Amino acid sequence: VRLLVIGGDAAGMTAASLVHRRRDDAEVVVVERGSYTSYSMCGIPYLVGGVIDEPEDLVTRSPEQFRERGITVHVRTEAIAIDPDARRVTVCDLDSGDEREEPYDALLYAAGAHPRVPDLPGLAEHGYVVHTLDEGERMRAVLDSGGGIEQVAVVGAGYIGLEIAEALIDRGVGVHLIDRSPHVMKTIDDDMAEVLEDALTDLGVDLRLGEDLTAVRVGDHGGREVVTDKGCYPADAVVLAMGGAPNVALAADAGCAVGTSGALVVDDRMRTSVPGIWAAGDVVESRDLVAGLRLNVQLGTHANKQGKVAGIDIAAQPDDGDAAFPGVVGTAVTRVCQWDVARVGLTERRASELGIDIAAVSFTGTAKAGYMPEAGTVHVRMLAERGTGRVLGAQLVGTGNVAKRIDVAAVWCQLGVRVQDAQFFDLSYAPPFGGVWDLLLVAARKLTAALGLTPQL
Ligand SMILES: Cc1cc2nc3c(=O)[nH]c(=O)nc-3n(C[C@H](O)[C@H](O)[C@H](O)COP(=O)(O)OP(=O)(O)OC[C@H]3O[C@@H](n4cnc5c(N)ncnc54)[C@H](O)[C@@H]3O)c2cc1C
Repeated sequence: VRLLVIGGDAAGMTAASLVHRRRDDAEVVVVERGSYTSYSMCGIPYLVGGVIDEPEDLVTRSPEQFRERGITVHVRTEAIAIDPDARRVTVCDLDSGDEREEPYDALLYAAGAHPRVPDLPGLAEHGYVVHTLDEGERMRAVLDSGGGIEQVAVVGAGYIGLEIAEALIDRGVGVHLIDRSPHVMKTIDDDMAEVLEDALTDLGVDLRLGEDLTAVRVGDHGGREVVTDKGCYPADAVVLAMGGAPNVALAADAGCAVGTSGALVVDDRMRTSVPGIWAAGDVVESRDLVAGLRLNVQLGTHANKQGKVAGIDIAAQPDDGDAAFPGVVGTAVTRVCQWDVARVGLTERRASELGIDIAAVSFTGTAKAGYMPEAGTVHVRMLAERGTGRVLGAQLVGTGNVAKRIDVAAVWCQLGVRVQDAQFFDLSYAPPFGGVWDLLLVAARKLTAALGLTPQL
């Protein structure tokens, strides 16, 4: 069997390695248009900020290391067309410009996503994206070269925009952070976002919320400036972090169905609608286990699991059992200034858009037992469904012990736990980690009361 993989990062290389390991008779070939394989995109903001020294430090396994294991890897090679009837992919060597055909028995399409670059004046010349490692390396080189980058406009205040903004400030570069939404991070509710906005402002970020980018141009004084519908700001460079669009074009041209989310439709074995083509990672949509919809959630955690599931299905060895990807609940964590920010499930805004009747509670507690030195702060928000009490979402913004807690809330969301039962969950306690009533247990108790459910502890 010949497995051809398009895209040599999280989903693609996970599947490639698994099929290579499990099937002696498999020939595994990967085409990757960048220079690196199996790298951590999640580490790119730290590379840009200088916390990580070299791009290679973010590489888990290089093309050479894969080749030594017997996997054929062609870097700087772009897939440009898929012929599903002939089971062939046309690829282009980006250095020589030569095109050739790569046949396959099974094709894994793992081309990821890429930030949207709006068609606005000046962006092609002055806009940077920092999505692949090659792009992160380019941005780092520009900053290191001392080429007069003193002010940068970051457009998009999602978690990637925030991480990049902070990395730039740490390097002594001024930042205008622009987003058309009235608050940063649309994946959390407004009261939680306001905590982050205060921290970013204190750090020195010039927050421009509710403003829409319209152009990048050379101003009257000869310097570059970024123009929005409300103002004009000097910026030597513009970083675009406006959310990623899944790279579906090639697969869609080959007949693979695209869902309403704009990502590829797959079944729970990661099979697309076209026989012989699997897809995994940022390029697919997943079942949202909270609201029952199909969503495109671009996170490394899913890409790795989905790559594995696709690999198991492609290898299809009788003794290997079966694997199915169940779906996602939207668990994510990041750090913004002193705050760890974590979320899972629905926000109140999203629940209201979907017409789901919920109750929500918000309160502030301490990260450790209140009497401990530097007990810290955690802002907590939790949502549950009226009638059933099912936990539908949680958000935490705190100075400590946040990631542990969101993972508990994620399990509650995934298993459909009800707040009245959640109050009794046996969660760990010692003073350095929280109070004797964990903040999640407190949230469950408050929600049980708010929903009029029993028992009322
Ligand atoms: C700055 C940043 C920070 C992040 N932080 C986190 C985090 O903290 N936690 C988390 O869970 N996730 C994080 N993510 C998301 C995570 O990195 C992605 O979800 C994950 O990398 C997706 O894996 P993938 O294999 O689907 O796609 P990708 O990693 O995007 O890999 C796709 C590969 O396909 C290649 N490719 C595309 N088209 C072609 C073609 N036609 N021919 C050949 N090759 C092609 C691309 O060059 C790319 O290398 C972050 C992402 C970014 C950008």
